[in-house]
Amino acid sequence: MRVKWFGYCACCRNPLDVHLYPQNFYEDLLYDSYNNIRPKNFENNVSMYKFYGLKTRKICLACYKTQKLLKPYKVRRDFEIGRPLPKYPVSATQEDIKEWFFKIEEFSKRADVDDYIKESLNRIFDYT
Ligand SMILES: [Zn+2]
Repeated sequence: MRVKWFGYCACCRNPLDVHLYPQNFYEDLLYDSYNNIRPKNFENNVSMYKFYGLKTRKICLACYKTQKLLKPYKVRRDFEIGRPLPKYPVSATQEDIKEWFFKIEEFSKRADVDDYIKESLNRIFDYT
């Protein structure tokens, strides 16, 4: 399996547009069955373009959402009426991706990995 990303966020330096390329069908099934156990989505690592003055920068979706939430008047308003702080979205760091990626390798060495693969095969082809 290969992991590839296209650039880094201008704010938080996290990888953008993460893609996974399984080399064969078995790796694809491994990824699918592991993703069922420990789901990892890279939806906050999608790239967005944002204007800073007259220049644009490529940033991740998490930073884009956070900058919208952190407008000074909104922060001040929420502080004054005692509203709790909003939950800020976070994007996956390079270390997160690396850790998750190597966990798949550990998962492939488990004794009961075939049961999980059969389960995901049943889900794909709808065997009954
Ligand atoms: Zn970012």
